This record gives sequence, C-alpha cells and structure tokens, in this order.
Amino acid sequence: MAGEPQTDCLFCRIVAGEIPATVVRESATTLAFRDINPQAPTHVLVIPKAHHPDAASLAAAEPEVAADVLREAGLVAADEEIAGTGYRIVLNTGAGAGQTVFHAHAHVLGGRGMQWPPG
Ligand code: AMP
Ligand code: ZN
Repeated sequence: MAGEPQTDCLFCRIVAGEIPATVVRESATTLAFRDINPQAPTHVLVIPKAHHPDAASLAAAEPEVAADVLREAGLVAADEEIAGTGYRIVLNTGAGAGQTVFHAHAHVLGGRGMQWPPG
C-alpha cells in the first residue's frame, strides 16, 4: 500500500534505522542524509519517511509531504551554506532519467558550478 514501509526498499530501511546513513536534517515527515556517492561538494538526499515510488506519486498521494521535501531541501541548502551561490534540486523519475532507488527523493547538489543542459 502506498505510504507503507517496504521491506525491500533501501530508503525505507534507512528510515527504519536498519541501514546507517549520515543524517543532516530530520522532520516529522522527512529525512535528509548525505549521498553515499557524492556528485558535488554538497550532495544530500531529502526523502519522505513514507514510501512512495517517485516524486509525482508522492505529490499525488501526500501533497503536503511533497511540500515538506522541498522546504527541507531549501533548509539543507541554507545549512550547507550553498543557498547564496546556487544549488540544484533534482528529482530523477524513471529508470531512463537515472532513477535507481524507487523511493521518492530529492537530490540537493551544490558547492560547485552547474552546467545546463544536464546530462
Ligand atoms: P537516483 O539515481 O536518483 O535514484 O538516486 C539514488 C541515489 O542514492 C544515488 O545518488 C546513490 O548514490 C544514493 N545511494 C544509494 N545507496 C545509498 C546509501 N546507502 N546511502 C546514501 N545514499 C545512497
Ligand atoms: Zn521506501
């Protein structure tokens, strides 16, 4: 069922404390932790604690939690002192776009220049 913890989901297991992560922020509905394979000096993932397969599914099922994820992403950027120089929030959706973990997550990337168009 949407929102319920999935035993085979990596990020549900991080939320449950079964897999360690370097947590940088936590709210009632979200968790933010450092990406294990950082692509920029700051690379933090912000996830809903509830399981939803991608950002669009999250926004459809629990729009207030989708808003929480975006708010927390901005607070991560402030905490990491990248808000002033600019940062990127990435929501890869679908394997063809590079999504590898099918629990919604926002990448917060910053601390270096960013190119456009993205790869
Ligand atoms: P995506 O490719 O958009 O689905 O992003 C998944 C992200 O999760 C990748 O950037 C991975 O490096 C990251 N990742 C995978 N396993 C872990 C882990 N155990 N702790 C933190 N980040 C992880
Ligand atoms: Zn999950």
